[in-house]
Amino acid sequence: PILPGRLRIAHLQNRLARSIRAAQTLLDPAAIIKELLENALDAGATHIDLRIRGTACLSSIVSADNGSGVPAQSLPDLCRPSTTSKLSNVQDLERINTYGFRGEALSAICGIARRVSITTRTRHQPVAQCAHYGTDGSLLRTSPAARSVGTTVQVEDVFHSLPVRKKDALAHPSRQLARCVAVVQAAALISEKSRIELRVGTDLKVANSPLIVQRKEPEDLTQSSLAALQRNAVAVLGRSANNLVRIYGCVATIMSSGASPQADAETKYHCYGLISSASLNSNGSGRARSSHQYVYINRRPVSFPQLVRAATELYRRATGLNGASPLLLVNLTLPSWTVDANLGPDKRNVAIYEEEKLVQGVVDLLTKIWFPTHEASIPLRKE
Ligand code: ADP
Ligand code: MG
Repeated sequence: PILPGRLRIAHLQNRLARSIRAAQTLLDPAAIIKELLENALDAGATHIDLRIRGTACLSSIVSADNGSGVPAQSLPDLCRPSTTSKLSNVQDLERINTYGFRGEALSAICGIARRVSITTRTRHQPVAQCAHYGTDGSLLRTSPAARSVGTTVQVEDVFHSLPVRKKDALAHPSRQLARCVAVVQAAALISEKSRIELRVGTDLKVANSPLIVQRKEPEDLTQSSLAALQRNAVAVLGRSANNLVRIYGCVATIMSSGASPQADAETKYHCYGLISSASLNSNGSGRARSSHQYVYINRRPVSFPQLVRAATELYRRATGLNGASPLLLVNLTLPSWTVDANLGPDKRNVAIYEEEKLVQGVVDLLTKIWFPTHEASIPLRKE
Protein backbone atom coordinates (compact mmCIF):
# COMPACT_ATOMS: atom_id res chain seq x y z
CA PRO A 1 0.00 0.00 0.00
CA ILE A 2 1.11 3.55 -0.66
CA LEU A 3 1.24 5.44 2.62
CA PRO A 4 0.29 9.11 2.71
CA GLY A 5 3.37 11.22 2.96
CA ARG A 6 5.44 8.51 1.32
CA LEU A 7 3.96 9.13 -2.09
CA ARG A 8 6.53 10.45 -4.50
CA ILE A 9 5.20 12.08 -7.59
CA ALA A 10 7.86 11.68 -10.20
CA HIS A 11 7.81 12.66 -13.81
CA LEU A 12 7.75 9.62 -16.03
CA GLN A 13 10.72 9.15 -18.24
CA ASN A 14 9.92 10.84 -21.50
CA ARG A 15 10.08 7.66 -23.45
CA LEU A 16 7.74 5.80 -21.15
CA ALA A 17 5.29 8.71 -20.97
CA ARG A 18 5.19 8.85 -24.74
CA SER A 19 4.58 5.15 -25.05
CA ILE A 20 1.69 5.30 -22.60
CA ARG A 21 0.10 8.28 -24.30
CA ALA A 22 0.55 6.79 -27.76
CA ALA A 23 -0.93 3.48 -26.66
CA GLN A 24 -4.11 5.30 -25.61
CA THR A 25 -4.46 6.91 -29.02
CA LEU A 26 -3.56 3.87 -31.08
CA LEU A 27 -5.41 0.91 -29.69
CA ASP A 28 -4.82 -1.45 -32.59
CA PRO A 29 -3.34 -1.66 -36.10
CA ALA A 30 -6.70 -0.48 -37.48
CA ALA A 31 -6.23 2.83 -35.66
CA ILE A 32 -2.92 3.29 -37.48
CA ILE A 33 -4.51 2.53 -40.84
CA LYS A 34 -7.26 5.03 -40.04
CA GLU A 35 -4.79 7.81 -39.23
CA LEU A 36 -2.66 7.20 -42.32
CA LEU A 37 -5.71 7.04 -44.55
CA GLU A 38 -7.15 10.25 -43.14
CA ASN A 39 -3.86 12.07 -43.57
CA ALA A 40 -3.78 11.02 -47.22
CA LEU A 41 -7.38 12.22 -47.71
CA ASP A 42 -6.55 15.50 -45.96
CA ALA A 43 -3.61 15.91 -48.36
CA GLY A 44 -6.08 15.79 -51.26
CA ALA A 45 -4.99 12.40 -52.58
CA THR A 46 -7.08 10.87 -55.35
CA HIS A 47 -5.29 7.57 -55.08
CA ILE A 48 -4.45 5.84 -51.81
CA ASP A 49 -2.82 2.44 -51.57
CA LEU A 50 -2.72 0.79 -48.19
CA ARG A 51 -0.84 -2.37 -47.50
CA ILE A 52 -0.51 -4.46 -44.37
CA ARG A 53 1.74 -7.40 -43.69
CA GLY A 54 2.35 -9.92 -40.97
CA THR A 55 0.35 -11.76 -38.35
CA ALA A 56 -2.27 -9.49 -36.74
CA CYS A 57 -1.14 -6.72 -39.16
CA LEU A 58 1.88 -6.03 -36.97
CA SER A 59 4.87 -6.45 -39.30
CA SER A 60 4.25 -3.45 -41.49
CA ILE A 61 1.61 -0.94 -42.44
CA VAL A 62 2.28 1.18 -45.50
CA SER A 63 0.22 3.98 -46.98
CA ALA A 64 1.12 5.49 -50.36
CA ASP A 65 -0.79 8.47 -51.71
CA ASN A 66 -0.63 10.99 -54.53
CA GLY A 67 -1.55 13.94 -52.33
CA SER A 68 0.23 17.24 -51.77
CA GLY A 69 3.39 15.81 -50.24
CA VAL A 70 5.27 17.43 -47.36
CA PRO A 71 7.72 20.26 -48.03
CA ALA A 72 11.33 19.34 -47.18
CA GLN A 73 11.59 22.12 -44.57
CA SER A 74 8.68 20.60 -42.61
CA LEU A 75 10.28 17.17 -42.29
CA PRO A 76 12.12 17.87 -39.00
CA ASP A 77 8.83 18.76 -37.25
CA LEU A 78 6.50 16.34 -38.99
CA CYS A 79 6.36 13.68 -36.27
CA ARG A 80 6.65 15.88 -33.20
CA PRO A 81 3.66 15.94 -30.85
CA SER A 82 1.06 18.63 -31.52
CA THR A 83 2.40 19.60 -34.89
CA THR A 84 -0.26 20.04 -37.50
CA SER A 85 -0.77 22.09 -40.62
CA LYS A 86 -4.54 21.97 -40.19
CA LEU A 87 -5.41 24.05 -37.16
CA SER A 88 -3.91 27.28 -35.91
CA ASN A 89 -6.34 28.74 -33.36
CA VAL A 90 -9.31 27.85 -31.18
CA GLN A 91 -11.81 29.37 -33.64
CA ASP A 92 -10.60 26.86 -36.24
CA LEU A 93 -11.96 24.07 -34.04
CA GLU A 94 -15.48 25.27 -34.91
CA ARG A 95 -14.96 24.92 -38.63
CA ILE A 96 -12.85 21.83 -39.07
CA ASN A 97 -13.09 20.39 -42.53
CA THR A 98 -10.18 18.01 -42.33
CA TYR A 99 -10.12 14.60 -40.69
CA GLY A 100 -7.06 15.43 -38.62
CA PHE A 101 -6.45 18.44 -36.45
CA ARG A 102 -4.67 17.29 -33.32
CA GLY A 103 -1.25 16.73 -34.79
CA GLU A 104 -0.83 13.65 -32.63
CA ALA A 105 -1.07 10.71 -35.00
CA LEU A 106 2.38 10.60 -36.56
CA SER A 107 4.01 11.32 -33.24
CA ALA A 108 2.02 8.54 -31.56
CA ILE A 109 2.83 6.10 -34.36
CA CYS A 110 6.56 6.80 -33.86
CA GLY A 111 6.04 6.02 -30.17
CA ILE A 112 4.75 2.50 -30.70
CA ALA A 113 6.58 1.23 -33.80
CA ARG A 114 10.17 0.17 -34.21
CA ARG A 115 10.71 2.07 -37.46
CA VAL A 116 8.83 4.86 -39.19
CA SER A 117 9.91 6.33 -42.50
CA ILE A 118 8.21 8.87 -44.70
CA THR A 119 9.06 9.35 -48.35
CA THR A 120 7.50 12.46 -49.73
CA ARG A 121 7.64 14.91 -52.58
CA THR A 122 5.69 18.08 -53.34
CA ARG A 123 5.14 19.39 -56.84
CA HIS A 124 7.82 22.01 -56.25
CA GLN A 125 10.54 19.45 -55.66
CA PRO A 126 12.46 17.60 -58.35
CA VAL A 127 13.20 14.61 -56.12
CA ALA A 128 11.57 13.02 -53.11
CA GLN A 129 13.09 12.87 -49.64
CA CYS A 130 13.02 9.78 -47.49
CA ALA A 131 12.96 10.68 -43.79
CA HIS A 132 13.50 8.26 -40.90
CA TYR A 133 12.12 9.03 -37.46
CA GLY A 134 13.01 7.93 -33.94
CA THR A 135 10.53 6.76 -31.31
CA ASP A 136 10.37 10.31 -29.92
CA GLY A 137 9.40 11.63 -33.36
CA SER A 138 12.74 13.25 -33.99
CA LEU A 139 14.16 13.22 -37.48
CA LEU A 140 17.08 10.77 -37.62
CA ARG A 141 18.22 11.21 -41.20
CA THR A 142 17.02 11.98 -44.69
CA SER A 143 18.14 10.83 -48.08
CA PRO A 144 17.01 11.61 -51.63
CA ALA A 145 14.61 9.07 -53.11
CA ALA A 146 12.65 8.43 -56.29
CA ARG A 147 8.92 9.04 -56.07
CA SER A 148 6.16 10.87 -57.87
CA VAL A 149 4.38 13.69 -56.01
CA GLY A 150 2.75 12.38 -52.84
CA THR A 151 3.67 10.61 -49.64
CA THR A 152 4.49 7.10 -48.54
CA VAL A 153 4.43 6.36 -44.83
CA GLN A 154 5.95 3.10 -43.74
CA VAL A 155 5.39 1.78 -40.23
CA GLU A 156 7.26 -1.34 -39.17
CA ASP A 157 7.03 -3.63 -36.18
CA VAL A 158 3.91 -2.20 -34.60
CA PHE A 159 3.66 -2.32 -30.78
CA HIS A 160 7.27 -3.45 -30.39
CA SER A 161 7.52 -1.21 -27.32
CA LEU A 162 4.29 -2.58 -25.83
CA PRO A 163 4.71 -6.33 -25.31
CA VAL A 164 1.32 -6.81 -23.65
CA ARG A 165 -0.53 -5.02 -26.41
CA LYS A 166 1.43 -7.02 -28.96
CA LYS A 167 0.61 -10.32 -27.31
CA ASP A 168 -3.02 -9.30 -27.12
CA ALA A 169 -3.14 -8.50 -30.84
CA LEU A 170 -1.37 -11.75 -31.69
CA ALA A 171 -3.97 -13.69 -29.73
CA HIS A 172 -6.71 -12.51 -32.13
CA PRO A 173 -5.06 -11.95 -35.51
CA SER A 174 -8.22 -12.28 -37.60
CA ARG A 175 -10.01 -9.74 -35.42
CA GLN A 176 -7.20 -7.24 -36.04
CA LEU A 177 -7.45 -7.80 -39.76
CA ALA A 178 -11.24 -7.49 -39.75
CA ARG A 179 -10.97 -4.14 -37.98
CA CYS A 180 -8.46 -2.87 -40.52
CA VAL A 181 -10.73 -3.94 -43.36
CA ALA A 182 -13.75 -2.29 -41.71
CA VAL A 183 -11.92 1.02 -41.32
CA VAL A 184 -10.86 1.07 -44.95
CA GLN A 185 -14.30 -0.06 -46.15
CA ALA A 186 -16.00 2.76 -44.29
CA ALA A 187 -13.73 5.33 -45.93
CA ALA A 188 -13.86 3.66 -49.35
CA LEU A 189 -17.67 3.62 -49.37
CA ILE A 190 -18.14 7.31 -48.75
CA SER A 191 -15.26 8.62 -50.84
CA GLU A 192 -16.33 10.40 -54.00
CA LYS A 193 -12.96 11.59 -55.17
CA SER A 194 -10.39 9.06 -54.05
CA ARG A 195 -9.63 5.58 -55.21
CA ILE A 196 -8.83 3.64 -52.05
CA GLU A 197 -7.29 0.19 -52.01
CA LEU A 198 -6.25 -2.13 -49.23
CA ARG A 199 -3.99 -5.08 -49.80
CA VAL A 200 -3.10 -7.68 -47.22
CA GLY A 201 0.14 -9.14 -48.45
CA THR A 202 -0.70 -9.35 -52.15
CA ASP A 203 -4.44 -9.99 -51.65
CA LEU A 204 -6.71 -7.13 -52.68
CA LYS A 205 -9.19 -6.78 -49.81
CA VAL A 206 -10.91 -3.46 -50.47
CA ALA A 207 -11.18 -1.36 -53.61
CA ASN A 208 -13.81 1.25 -54.25
CA SER A 209 -14.98 2.79 -57.46
CA PRO A 210 -15.45 6.52 -56.93
CA LEU A 211 -17.53 8.46 -59.39
CA ILE A 212 -15.16 11.17 -60.51
CA VAL A 213 -17.35 13.61 -62.40
CA GLN A 214 -17.68 17.35 -62.52
CA ARG A 215 -20.85 18.43 -60.81
CA LYS A 216 -22.89 20.85 -62.85
CA GLU A 217 -25.84 21.95 -60.77
CA PRO A 218 -25.84 22.38 -57.01
CA GLU A 219 -29.24 20.60 -57.00
CA ASP A 220 -27.47 17.50 -58.25
CA LEU A 221 -25.28 17.26 -55.17
CA THR A 222 -27.29 14.68 -53.27
CA GLN A 223 -28.06 12.64 -56.37
CA SER A 224 -24.46 12.51 -57.47
CA SER A 225 -23.38 11.63 -53.93
CA LEU A 226 -25.94 8.82 -53.97
CA ALA A 227 -24.68 7.61 -57.33
CA ALA A 228 -21.11 7.60 -56.00
CA LEU A 229 -22.22 5.77 -52.87
CA GLN A 230 -23.99 3.14 -54.94
CA ARG A 231 -20.95 2.54 -57.16
CA ASN A 232 -18.70 2.26 -54.14
CA ALA A 233 -21.15 -0.05 -52.38
CA VAL A 234 -21.19 -2.45 -55.32
CA ALA A 235 -17.39 -2.35 -55.59
CA VAL A 236 -16.78 -2.77 -51.86
CA LEU A 237 -19.70 -4.89 -50.64
CA GLY A 238 -20.56 -6.85 -53.77
CA ARG A 239 -23.32 -6.94 -56.35
CA SER A 240 -26.09 -7.40 -53.79
CA ALA A 241 -25.61 -3.69 -53.05
CA ASN A 242 -27.53 -3.08 -56.27
CA ASN A 243 -30.67 -4.01 -54.33
CA LEU A 244 -30.25 -1.28 -51.77
CA VAL A 245 -32.87 1.45 -51.59
CA ARG A 246 -31.95 5.13 -51.83
CA ILE A 247 -33.08 7.51 -49.13
CA TYR A 248 -32.59 11.25 -48.87
CA GLY A 249 -34.23 14.31 -47.44
CA CYS A 250 -34.49 16.73 -44.56
CA VAL A 251 -34.65 14.86 -41.25
CA ALA A 252 -34.93 17.69 -38.74
CA THR A 253 -35.49 21.39 -38.44
CA ILE A 254 -34.09 22.90 -35.29
CA MET A 255 -33.96 26.34 -33.78
CA SER A 256 -30.47 27.19 -32.73
CA SER A 257 -31.60 29.59 -29.94
CA GLY A 258 -28.21 31.08 -29.34
CA ALA A 259 -26.25 27.86 -29.75
CA SER A 260 -25.15 28.75 -33.24
CA PRO A 261 -23.06 31.67 -34.39
CA GLN A 262 -26.24 32.99 -36.06
CA ALA A 263 -28.50 33.31 -33.03
CA ASP A 264 -32.09 32.07 -33.41
CA ALA A 265 -31.54 30.84 -36.91
CA GLU A 266 -33.41 27.84 -38.23
CA THR A 267 -31.17 24.95 -39.16
CA LYS A 268 -31.94 21.83 -41.14
CA TYR A 269 -30.38 18.41 -40.78
CA HIS A 270 -30.23 16.42 -43.99
CA CYS A 271 -29.47 12.84 -44.75
CA TYR A 272 -28.79 10.63 -47.74
CA GLY A 273 -27.94 6.98 -47.98
CA LEU A 274 -28.64 3.43 -49.01
CA ILE A 275 -30.55 0.91 -46.95
CA SER A 276 -31.69 -2.69 -47.20
CA SER A 277 -35.08 -3.30 -48.66
CA ALA A 278 -37.56 -4.85 -46.24
CA SER A 279 -39.15 -7.03 -48.90
CA LEU A 280 -37.78 -9.80 -51.07
CA ASN A 281 -38.03 -9.34 -54.82
CA SER A 282 -39.01 -12.05 -57.31
CA ASN A 283 -35.62 -13.74 -57.44
CA GLY A 284 -35.48 -13.80 -53.67
CA SER A 285 -32.41 -11.60 -53.43
CA GLY A 286 -34.02 -8.36 -52.37
CA ARG A 287 -32.41 -8.18 -49.00
CA ALA A 288 -28.71 -7.53 -49.17
CA ARG A 289 -27.02 -10.28 -47.24
CA SER A 290 -24.30 -8.40 -45.50
CA SER A 291 -25.59 -6.56 -42.49
CA HIS A 292 -23.21 -3.77 -41.74
CA GLN A 293 -24.14 -0.36 -40.53
CA TYR A 294 -22.12 2.61 -41.69
CA VAL A 295 -23.08 5.99 -40.33
CA TYR A 296 -21.29 9.19 -41.33
CA ILE A 297 -21.60 12.75 -40.20
CA ASN A 298 -20.52 15.16 -42.89
CA ARG A 299 -18.88 12.16 -44.53
CA ARG A 300 -16.82 11.30 -41.49
CA PRO A 301 -17.36 7.73 -40.25
CA VAL A 302 -18.84 7.85 -36.76
CA SER A 303 -20.19 5.49 -34.19
CA PHE A 304 -23.87 6.31 -33.65
CA PRO A 305 -25.32 3.35 -31.72
CA GLN A 306 -28.60 5.15 -30.92
CA LEU A 307 -29.39 5.53 -34.60
CA VAL A 308 -28.28 2.02 -35.52
CA ARG A 309 -30.35 0.54 -32.70
CA ALA A 310 -33.48 2.46 -33.70
CA ALA A 311 -33.07 1.52 -37.36
CA THR A 312 -32.45 -2.14 -36.56
CA GLU A 313 -35.51 -2.33 -34.34
CA LEU A 314 -37.67 -0.79 -37.06
CA TYR A 315 -36.25 -3.15 -39.67
CA ARG A 316 -37.04 -6.15 -37.49
CA ARG A 317 -40.62 -4.99 -37.12
CA ALA A 318 -40.91 -4.42 -40.88
CA THR A 319 -39.49 -7.79 -41.90
CA GLY A 320 -40.73 -9.84 -38.96
CA LEU A 321 -37.20 -11.26 -38.73
CA ASN A 322 -36.07 -11.10 -35.14
CA GLY A 323 -32.34 -11.47 -35.52
CA ALA A 324 -32.06 -9.47 -38.76
CA SER A 325 -30.06 -6.29 -39.18
CA PRO A 326 -30.37 -3.98 -42.15
CA LEU A 327 -27.50 -2.84 -44.24
CA LEU A 328 -27.32 0.82 -43.51
CA LEU A 329 -25.17 3.38 -45.27
CA VAL A 330 -26.26 6.77 -44.06
CA ASN A 331 -24.60 10.15 -44.27
CA LEU A 332 -25.95 12.94 -42.10
CA THR A 333 -25.27 16.46 -43.29
CA LEU A 334 -25.18 18.75 -40.26
CA PRO A 335 -23.88 22.31 -39.83
CA SER A 336 -20.43 22.08 -38.28
CA TRP A 337 -21.42 23.99 -35.12
CA THR A 338 -23.93 21.24 -34.22
CA VAL A 339 -21.26 18.52 -34.07
CA ASP A 340 -18.38 18.06 -31.68
CA ALA A 341 -15.96 15.39 -32.86
CA ASN A 342 -13.39 16.27 -30.24
CA LEU A 343 -14.58 13.75 -27.63
CA GLY A 344 -11.99 11.04 -28.18
CA PRO A 345 -8.78 10.63 -30.11
CA ASP A 346 -10.31 8.48 -32.84
CA LYS A 347 -13.09 11.05 -33.35
CA ARG A 348 -15.64 8.27 -33.81
CA ASN A 349 -17.74 9.37 -30.88
CA VAL A 350 -19.42 12.66 -31.48
CA ALA A 351 -21.79 14.91 -29.59
CA ILE A 352 -24.70 16.24 -31.64
CA TYR A 353 -27.00 19.14 -30.86
CA GLU A 354 -30.64 17.90 -30.68
CA GLU A 355 -29.59 14.33 -31.28
CA GLU A 356 -32.96 12.78 -30.46
CA LYS A 357 -34.73 14.89 -33.06
CA LEU A 358 -32.20 13.77 -35.60
CA VAL A 359 -32.65 10.07 -34.81
CA GLN A 360 -36.45 10.43 -34.94
CA GLY A 361 -36.17 12.19 -38.31
CA VAL A 362 -34.11 9.36 -39.79
CA VAL A 363 -36.51 6.79 -38.32
CA ASP A 364 -39.42 8.63 -39.99
CA LEU A 365 -37.59 8.52 -43.31
CA LEU A 366 -36.93 4.79 -42.89
CA THR A 367 -40.56 4.20 -41.91
CA LYS A 368 -41.72 5.62 -45.25
CA ILE A 369 -39.56 3.04 -47.04
CA TRP A 370 -40.05 0.02 -44.81
CA PHE A 371 -43.74 0.64 -44.01
CA PRO A 372 -44.97 2.27 -47.22
CA THR A 373 -48.62 2.09 -46.16
CA HIS A 374 -48.01 3.44 -42.68
CA GLU A 375 -49.26 7.01 -42.23
CA ALA A 376 -48.08 8.31 -38.89
CA SER A 377 -44.55 8.40 -37.59
CA ILE A 378 -43.48 5.56 -35.33
CA PRO A 379 -42.19 7.05 -32.09
CA LEU A 380 -38.81 6.08 -30.75
CA ARG A 381 -38.96 3.72 -27.83
CA LYS A 382 -37.68 5.42 -24.71
CA GLU A 383 -35.04 3.59 -22.74
P1 ADP B 1 -2.96 15.95 -38.05
O1 ADP B 1 -3.47 15.08 -39.15
O2 ADP B 1 -3.89 16.00 -36.88
O3 ADP B 1 -2.53 17.30 -38.53
P2 ADP B 1 -0.76 14.09 -37.99
O4 ADP B 1 0.23 13.75 -36.92
O5 ADP B 1 -1.62 12.99 -38.50
O6 ADP B 1 -1.64 15.27 -37.44
O7 ADP B 1 0.03 14.73 -39.19
C1 ADP B 1 0.85 15.87 -38.96
C2 ADP B 1 1.04 16.68 -40.22
O8 ADP B 1 1.79 15.94 -41.17
C3 ADP B 1 -0.27 17.01 -40.93
O9 ADP B 1 -0.87 18.18 -40.41
C4 ADP B 1 0.20 17.20 -42.37
O10 ADP B 1 0.66 18.51 -42.58
C5 ADP B 1 1.38 16.25 -42.48
N1 ADP B 1 1.03 14.98 -43.16
C6 ADP B 1 0.81 13.78 -42.57
N2 ADP B 1 0.52 12.82 -43.47
C7 ADP B 1 0.56 13.43 -44.69
C8 ADP B 1 0.35 12.98 -46.05
N3 ADP B 1 0.03 11.70 -46.34
N4 ADP B 1 0.48 13.90 -47.04
C9 ADP B 1 0.81 15.19 -46.76
N5 ADP B 1 1.02 15.66 -45.50
C10 ADP B 1 0.91 14.81 -44.48
MG1 MG C 1 -3.72 13.05 -39.09
